[in-house]
Amino acid sequence: ASPQTFSALQDLDLRGAALDHASLKAVLPRPELNFATAAEAVEGIIARVRAEGFAALSELAERFDGVTQTHTRVPAEAMERALADLDPQVRAGLEESIARARAFAAAQVPEDTRIDYGTGATVTQRWVPVRRVGLYVPGGLAVYPSSVIMNAVPALAAGVGSLAIASPPQKEFGGLPHPTILAAAQLLGVEEVHAMGGAQAIAAFAYGVPVTGDMDPQLAIEPVDVVSGPGNLFVATAKRLVKGVVGIDAEAGPTEIAILADATANPEFIAADMISQAEHDPNAAAVLITDSPELAEAVRSALEGQCSTTKHSERVRIALGGKQSATILVDDMAAGIAVCNVYAAEHLEIHTANAAADAALVTAAGAVFVGAHSPVSLGDYCAGSNHVLPTSGTAAFASGLNVNTFLKAIQVIDYDRAALSVVAPHVVALANAEDLPAHGDAVAIRFA
Ligand code: NAD
Repeated sequence: ASPQTFSALQDLDLRGAALDHASLKAVLPRPELNFATAAEAVEGIIARVRAEGFAALSELAERFDGVTQTHTRVPAEAMERALADLDPQVRAGLEESIARARAFAAAQVPEDTRIDYGTGATVTQRWVPVRRVGLYVPGGLAVYPSSVIMNAVPALAAGVGSLAIASPPQKEFGGLPHPTILAAAQLLGVEEVHAMGGAQAIAAFAYGVPVTGDMDPQLAIEPVDVVSGPGNLFVATAKRLVKGVVGIDAEAGPTEIAILADATANPEFIAADMISQAEHDPNAAAVLITDSPELAEAVRSALEGQCSTTKHSERVRIALGGKQSATILVDDMAAGIAVCNVYAAEHLEIHTANAAADAALVTAAGAVFVGAHSPVSLGDYCAGSNHVLPTSGTAAFASGLNVNTFLKAIQVIDYDRAALSVVAPHVVALANAEDLPAHGDAVAIRFA
């Protein structure tokens, strides 16, 4: 990489700037490509999958993945072979990741909540898993066996009975998903894996793929209740468009890293972490927020140095030079935290003298990484936390993938006659106030 590479990383000077939510929202960096730019193409893909089923999936696999498909379902023999051939070191890594993710997911399973209003009157909130889920595992610019774990472990902990995985077909593996993805699914006991990617995979899960006439019944895909998982802009846009038909975890689109740092931070660590997320996607975002102009300069020169040796330097250069990436100068750490809370990063690293205390002030982020020894790539693979996290500012209201993604709360009301009689006059009064007297009558009839 040439030294001018990281002069391409834009500078945003917010020293002395207004820090209220609306003012910050208007100036913080966001990608040029977004939901609005992808929606038209993705709507077309979803409509085709709904209308044409497998014929659309195979045509889109040809177009986007360069493979000719006779079916999407991965045969059991291919799954078994992938696990048998798995590199032992990769297997050990997957097993460690699974063990940590399982422990955290098990700890998240909520208890039912029950309240007793006096004799004969109880209300209970009961947690019930959704019936069937579709788990998306990316496989475009990179392949993500780790995302098999991040999706499947919480779904299994929630008690979901039917799990299906989709991942793009890979030309060099005979049109199947990458073998490490198949091996990870096999380790977790997920048998149903489909070679399909992008928006078309999300549509196939949401609407199902029916078979008609003399078509091979193996081509059918049963619709799911929840679609989860990370993906590129097309995948994230498709999830937003099918939301309501199915549940989704969050829009887990192109990766973002924001780093809040003061003069005590190590610029080489910061540069390495920015590059580690920029290598996901040319649309990935890396944002440094600091009150130290010296640190910002040191990070820039560290980026120059590290980028010249990193494998995916071309992708990294595009991501760091894009409208979505920047160094942001602020007056102090309080201003920095205000910026972080409006930006609502997918991943937020805190490299400050009081990292844990500063992290406690964060109110919007997919995940927070505290201190110099909690890099995002730890969370990507082996921290125990989930790496499927909300992007594009949606962390203002959305959460990272967790056991609750796959659970519904059912409220159960159980009053006996005496308990009902205690509240009956209140029900009648409120029903009359809403001019819905039949509601009051439905209570009164029980005491007539
Ligand atoms: P992917 O599987 O998400 O996307 C590949 C598919 O995109 C292709 O199979 C194709 O169907 C579709 N596609 C490609 N170009 C298209 C076009 N022009 N029009 C319509 N569809 C098209 O794999 P990827 O591209 O490597 O992206 C993975 C993404 O996942 C990255 O952006 C990464 O940052 C992100 N990610 C996010 C999180 C998170 O939690 N937010 C976690 C991990 C990864």
